Amino acid sequence: MTDLFDQTHIWHPYTSMTNPLPTFKVKSASGAVIALEDGRQLIDGMSSWWCAIHGYNHAALNQAVTDQLQNMSHIMFGGFTHDPAIDLAKLLLQICPPNLDKIFYADSGSVAVEVALKMAVQYWSAQGQLNKTNFITTRSGYHGDTWNAMSVCDPVTGMHHIFGKSLPNRIFIPAPKIGFDQAWDSADIVELEQALEANHQNIAAFIIEPIVQGAGGMRFYHPEYLRQAKKLCEQYKVLMIFDEIATGFGRTGKLFAWEHAQVEPDIMCIGKALTGGYMTLSATLTTKHVAEMISQGEAGVFMHGPTFMANPLACAVALKSTQLLLEQDWQANIKRIENQLKEQLNPLADLAYVQDVRVLGAIGVVELKFDVDMKTLQQQFVERGIWIRPFGKLVYVMPPYIITKTQLETLLTQLVEVVQSMQEVNA
Ligand SMILES: *Cc1c(COP(=O)(O)O)cnc(C)c1O
Repeated sequence: MTDLFDQTHIWHPYTSMTNPLPTFKVKSASGAVIALEDGRQLIDGMSSWWCAIHGYNHAALNQAVTDQLQNMSHIMFGGFTHDPAIDLAKLLLQICPPNLDKIFYADSGSVAVEVALKMAVQYWSAQGQLNKTNFITTRSGYHGDTWNAMSVCDPVTGMHHIFGKSLPNRIFIPAPKIGFDQAWDSADIVELEQALEANHQNIAAFIIEPIVQGAGGMRFYHPEYLRQAKKLCEQYKVLMIFDEIATGFGRTGKLFAWEHAQVEPDIMCIGKALTGGYMTLSATLTTKHVAEMISQGEAGVFMHGPTFMANPLACAVALKSTQLLLEQDWQANIKRIENQLKEQLNPLADLAYVQDVRVLGAIGVVELKFDVDMKTLQQQFVERGIWIRPFGKLVYVMPPYIITKTQLETLLTQLVEVVQSMQEVNA
């Protein structure tokens, strides 16, 4: 199945070039189904890493791209503007936290995070606070793969030891321990308080994924954590950055995860599902206050400007994708998926080698007590006609919202059978 040229010359995410994991060649994808070149069909459990919320090859999204293509696929954003960028910004500012008023378009999630970090540093330097350049974050976070995004990822799973001294030293506190549904315990916020007290003079911002820590462990934590963190950030004069790149656009049951806590960040990053999975686009939003302060600084401007900033094709499809989401009863649909995830996954919690089963919105996670063998497991899933890509101890799904009841039933039945048939390899 693996293509020889591909295997010899093309890097895939996090893979070796001497001992690469197998790849499956995709011919097309439509709705919640991925068609392999050999004719096999897979029900999609991944939404292409949180992105393809409306499924693949969606008629309205195809149309939005085609229509925009007739006008222009791209035009530089320096000195020009266009309707796709303006219309999308109008809509995003309506649905993001009300305090956010300015938007910066970037090309990927990681770049949106870089932009957020740079905004925070420029914000303080504009006030003569030249020492407030570092960042504080929790363990088990994930914020992307570029240099400074990587520096605020979990220091263990984020591979800090590999990059060693080349990475700036951030201040890490333990990951939030109290689960989303558990009883709040104020002990959970003590380390943040201590770290802020000790370091606030050097800290520009606290960056965190609200409610759901994604690629750093698929953990769901208590909304009170964010409310307490917000108070502390205000007290110690540290900006708060929410990385909503994975959690945005309905995935957790709210349009954005900050709504679970009703805490407004100073800066917020969005990406992934923004274009419905059609192409890469991200954005960093901030308040009028932060934007004006940056603009009063020594530079007088915000120092960033990607070549493909506000790419019109990407903005047009993002606008259509967001409209599509908002014009349906997406809350009821996410609830439907959530209920089915709970019903079919919860029984796995009884297995001796399953550490935890957790579901929030359209995210279902089975955490094992040992690391999975990704290669074998991936193969088994494909043989059973489903697409799930586990990592670490986690077998998880986040299906496209258009997945039907029957498709989801099949996806989960097959997942459950594979997990049940697992032998405890190294527990
Ligand atoms: C995926 C992700 C990123 C990085 O986005 P890319 O588009 O892969 O650069 C950043 N933060 C979070 C929370 C993510 O899930």
